[in-house]
Amino acid sequence: MKSLLEILNFVKTKKVLNFETASPVHPNQRGIPVPTKQMSSGCGSCNLCEVNCPTKAIERKGDSEFLVDYGKCLQCGDCVEICPDAKLTNSGFIYVFSLHREEFYTSYKNGILQTSLHKSIPLTANQERFRKLTHKRGFLYREVAAGGNNTVESELNASFNSVFDSEREGIRCVASPKHADAIVFSGPVSENMAAPLETAWNVMSEPKALIACGTEAVSGGLFPQCNLPKEPDLYISGDPPRPDVILQAFRLLLGRFSFQFQEALHKFLESEK
Ligand code: SF4
Ligand code: SF4
Repeated sequence: MKSLLEILNFVKTKKVLNFETASPVHPNQRGIPVPTKQMSSGCGSCNLCEVNCPTKAIERKGDSEFLVDYGKCLQCGDCVEICPDAKLTNSGFIYVFSLHREEFYTSYKNGILQTSLHKSIPLTANQERFRKLTHKRGFLYREVAAGGNNTVESELNASFNSVFDSEREGIRCVASPKHADAIVFSGPVSENMAAPLETAWNVMSEPKALIACGTEAVSGGLFPQCNLPKEPDLYISGDPPRPDVILQAFRLLLGRFSFQFQEALHKFLESEK
């Protein structure tokens, strides 16, 4: 019986995530908040979303401009719940990652996403060198929990299971930063973790990449952020980001996945009209 089950396991369709067909929108996730059609006539002046956002990710300018820093957004849904006129909705859009922090600064005018950041921002010299080294073989990373709450670590653990299977991309976790190509850090970088993070970074050889994983690592989230060793090479927002989001972001850094946050968000919002 046991060997029959083993044979069946060989022939059964595997439930491994297909990166090529995976969607930036997840039906069961809140994702980031976006304006609804009701915002086309302006926003009103209640300001409840801005005042109640726990990370101050929202800024309103007059009646028509609505700015969101998705690098600060926890995807908690509070702004959607508190809006009295249903002018915001949870989009389910979860691919909130970028090679450049400024891509998360998003501006809507009368509910329409302003598209100034659609054009491609060039890679930094470090991102280019890292991509050249790791594009084919993948990379090894050392994880540094820099004052977070372990949720990012849980999702990183899950990224190695048989559904997400990080190792098929050649992406593995190692114990020592001396053996790593990249540092993946989580948490807002507390005072006590700033120095260990810097030490881990300094012992690595070039080229190397710094990856901010989770909203707290990107912006501090609910907390002030201490100094980082350098500007991260990859930002993955979400509190915490799902394993598929983390792996697609890693693939972006490797140059195996073509993606621009604002461009993809714009396409999604157009398709929802
Ligand atoms: S953190 Fe919460 S309240 Fe603030 S913008 Fe994001 S979903 Fe809305
Ligand atoms: S809570 Fe709703 S109506 Fe009030 S300012 Fe925010 S989006 Fe506009």
